[in-house]
Amino acid sequence: MLLIIISALVTIILFPQLVFANKLKYKNFKVCSNDKINHDIKIILDNAIDLAQRSELYDPNYKYNIILCHNTFYNKIDDGLLGIDPPARSRLNNVIIKVRIDPANNVAFATFHKECEVNLTYLVAHEMIHCLQANKYGIMKFNPFRHPEFWKLEGYPEYISRKTQLSGKDYSLANEIERYINLQNKAPDTWILTEEGGCESPDYYYRGRLMVEYLMNIKHMSYDQILKDSVSESSIFKEMIKWKDSTKKVNDSIPRNTVEQALK
Ligand SMILES: [Zn+2]
Repeated sequence: MLLIIISALVTIILFPQLVFANKLKYKNFKVCSNDKINHDIKIILDNAIDLAQRSELYDPNYKYNIILCHNTFYNKIDDGLLGIDPPARSRLNNVIIKVRIDPANNVAFATFHKECEVNLTYLVAHEMIHCLQANKYGIMKFNPFRHPEFWKLEGYPEYISRKTQLSGKDYSLANEIERYINLQNKAPDTWILTEEGGCESPDYYYRGRLMVEYLMNIKHMSYDQILKDSVSESSIFKEMIKWKDSTKKVNDSIPRNTVEQALK
């Protein structure tokens, strides 16, 4: 009997699409929910796939289930087995959104740590990249119990899901590193404010994103090379700070009248 219950739980946890009443098929996605599915989710999925396409892990044939499980028994089982923390999880090819969402306004209402608003497109794209990590490297290397260091595990999905913002013409990695250091100095614990919606994440999400961004954009490494690289987190962080300081020095060394001339 116990064996039957355990195998039923494992099946439901791994194949959640089986227990949801409503399904919407769209491109490479199957959206599953017990509530009526808002078709605005298609715009979110289009934008999330645009982001995922910028990843070297992208696989055009990979199919995702998007499980909208806020207020469901499935969510309770998931919380019970894996803890209440995050607004979303990935498991095999399932992107599991555990909190209430408003696709028309591109928002997920996270309740972890404290109540805040997360950009829904980032959230979906982040979890899609986790699916692709396991797809490329295997579930034995990417699972809740065994995975690369947190900064490599979480930094990369953060980097890809924020690609649009990070490619903006006013964006500066050096300034962003300074912002991180300021926030880290002010933070009373390891939780750091990440974006406008007031959401805080464990330190390694932001730090990891900056380090992956530094290694990929400045040092031109691939994610595959980052995973294989054995240099320690603290050495890379120190190196990144040195780089940041060197770019600041270059900017500061431009004579003031040259800057004023350029502005005229
Ligand atoms: Zn993650």
